[in-house]
Formats: sequence, structure tokens, C-alpha cells
Amino acid sequence: MQLPSGFAEVPCARCGTFVKGIGFGELCPDCQRRRSLRASRYARLISLVVTAGVALYTATRAPLSPAGRLWLAAGVIIIYFVTRKVAYGVLMRHLPD
Ligand SMILES: [Zn+2]
Repeated sequence: MQLPSGFAEVPCARCGTFVKGIGFGELCPDCQRRRSLRASRYARLISLVVTAGVALYTATRAPLSPAGRLWLAAGVIIIYFVTRKVAYGVLMRHLPD
């Protein structure tokens, strides 16, 4: 079957394997999965460092009431996941091969 682009198989941008169903400049599913694993690992590390820094800064800046500690814990969890999601997106786009 011919794809709308007119080519049945297109080479992967990284490994050069001809694969059906991808566009020019895109990665094959294998390379995509490998990149995703790497991006995920780096994103986890980055978000851990950022979250620890923010938590440490906040905890040492103000005396915390019990309610304040609860808010800090909730904020830390939210910051961790948001930073991880953003870092993953950026790394998937810009991680060198
Ligand atoms: Zn590939």
C-alpha cells in the first residue's frame, strides 16, 4: 500500500532502517522507544534535583506550621511531576542521538 506521501517505506532518521508508516526525519519505533527510555531517565533525575532544591529552599526559608508542612509536601509532589513531564517533553525533542 502506498502512503499519502507516496513512499511505502521511509528510512529511520537515526539507524537508517526502512520502516513502514513513519515520515521523513522521524524515528523507527525501536529508536523511538530507546529515546523515550533515555529521556525518561534524565527527566526523573532532573525533576528529583529541582524538587529537592525547591523543598530545601522553602523549608529553610520560613518556619512551618503543621498546615504549612502539609502544603509543602503537596507542592513538592506537584512540582516533581510537573517538572518531570516538562523535562521529558523537552528531552524527547532535543536529546542528541
Ligand atoms: Zn531507527
